[in-house]
Amino acid sequence: ENQKQTLGFQTEVKQLLHLMIHSLYSNKEIFLRELISNASDAADKLRFEALAKPELLEDNSPLKIRISFDKEGKTLTIEDNGIGMSRDEVISHLGTIAKSGTSEFLSSLSGDQKKDAQLIGQFGVGFYSAFIVADKVDVYSRRAGLAASKGVHWSSQGEGSFEIATVDKQERGTRIVLHLKSGEEEFADGWRLHSIIKKYSDHIALPIELPKEDYSAEEDKEKEEKAAEWETINRASALWVRPRAEIKDEEYQEFYKHISHDFENPLSWSHNKVEGKLEYNSLLYLPARAPFDLYQREAPRGLKLYVQRVFILDQADSFLPLYLRFIKGVVDSNDLSLNVSREILQKDPLIDSMKAALTKRVLDMLEKLSKDGEKYTRFWKNFGQVLKEGPAEDFANREKIAGLLRFASTHEDSAEQKVSLADYLARAQEGQDKIYYLTGESYAQIKNSPHLEVFRKKGIEVLLLSDRIDEWLMGYLTEFNGKSFVDVARGDLDLGKLDSEEDKKAQEEAAKAKQGLTERLKKALESSVSEVRVSHRLTDSAAILAMGETDMGVQMRQILAASGQ
Ligand code: ADP
Ligand code: MG
Repeated sequence: ENQKQTLGFQTEVKQLLHLMIHSLYSNKEIFLRELISNASDAADKLRFEALAKPELLEDNSPLKIRISFDKEGKTLTIEDNGIGMSRDEVISHLGTIAKSGTSEFLSSLSGDQKKDAQLIGQFGVGFYSAFIVADKVDVYSRRAGLAASKGVHWSSQGEGSFEIATVDKQERGTRIVLHLKSGEEEFADGWRLHSIIKKYSDHIALPIELPKEDYSAEEDKEKEEKAAEWETINRASALWVRPRAEIKDEEYQEFYKHISHDFENPLSWSHNKVEGKLEYNSLLYLPARAPFDLYQREAPRGLKLYVQRVFILDQADSFLPLYLRFIKGVVDSNDLSLNVSREILQKDPLIDSMKAALTKRVLDMLEKLSKDGEKYTRFWKNFGQVLKEGPAEDFANREKIAGLLRFASTHEDSAEQKVSLADYLARAQEGQDKIYYLTGESYAQIKNSPHLEVFRKKGIEVLLLSDRIDEWLMGYLTEFNGKSFVDVARGDLDLGKLDSEEDKKAQEEAAKAKQGLTERLKKALESSVSEVRVSHRLTDSAAILAMGETDMGVQMRQILAASGQ
């Protein structure tokens, strides 16, 4: 060995390692899924790079993952012949965490084991999970295309530092040796490994092999020879090309965890094969929980793109609009060229029609999910705010998106957003041809607004909107189901058919009778208001400030004021 170096882990790695080992212990077997997932990614990357440089495939041996173990030595080895890593790559990939927002994420952990386990799961546990069961990990790797003498040996006990040295490595790819902690010997066992692989990694598209076990207990006989035989444990075919009816929910769920680096099951998924002018398979997932970086501009988003089964890109973000950025999944096209790039995707008209179709799939999936109250509530809590960006971004689907929105309203005495526009219309008064709403800074602030008095009196429901984005949203939502939206705080409220002839007459008379008063008030308030009217909005309050039809909303004014305009 030469060029030996001892390097410290980035602070965040140390923190993550520590937290992970403690909070994920009850689910420790997932370390194998993570290492297999990495090996599979490495094979994907090799296949992709080999499109342009076929010589990277070297001997052309089939891509696979091999898992072996030594009961006495208490080791477990995971080996792949994928892309491998150079010395620099090993140092950065296995010594730092590149994700943006990592320190914020780490500081949000509470110390509550259960909660933290979920958060870490969302964050993605990855390679470092090996230290849940190992007290020492050796990684031997050589990047495809580099000489055998450019192999790397990384070794660490998962504490503050790791050692790195340059070594000879004949075979391309990565071999990871876990020295199991005492008490974790169960993982140096063929049956145990077999069942973990079936459970978590059956969907992996390349073969995962274990040494063939001699179950007939013919002790030691030809042991050497037997050890050289391998058996494929998983199904080893791309899950998304298999027929839907054949795939179990658990398989869909595990596949989701592999591609999303999430830990929890998805809320829902939609698997489709499209044939005809365009041919592709898509498998789209709705996560159960918002990722910690949902609102970060540079956060990774998008689908995993394959072309004819060959992995091309992670986070291909041209296939779905921004307001559906929380969707994870795979799209595998038969039409795109193998050397398609991010730049080409952005211009290809083919992508536009795929995007339109995939968007529709997601909206349909959400609509279906909305029949399940509990799940939909969960979806709404996690992603409702993002979906509200939809009407502005996606004009064509405005109505569909509107149908998926949920609001607080005067019908329920709660800040929770549960009312759909369909619910609202089903409860509308006879002759009501408008959807009434009120916006404000908080639910508490608007729920007793004097603007609502007349609506309460007449038993008309009003939507109560208090999210930051709401005013902006309402700028793009003009109607739903042929009924237009009316801000009850604006202009001269016309209740149309909801006011009886008598009401109208009474209002006119009141206005006439009070003409003197309104004129005096208008004079007195000249510099602050543009109009003084006798209002029929109020039943209890004496006066109210209303906005003009085209005035900017309060929230908008504040946003602009805050930005210095
Ligand atoms: P993630 O898979 O989410 O990127 P991991 O912690 O699992 O995070 O892995 C970190 C990085 O280490 C990977 O992105 C990859 O670059 C590298 N890596 C890990 N395992 C392998 C492997 N078997 N072959 C090649 N690279 C690997
Ligand atoms: Mg990983």
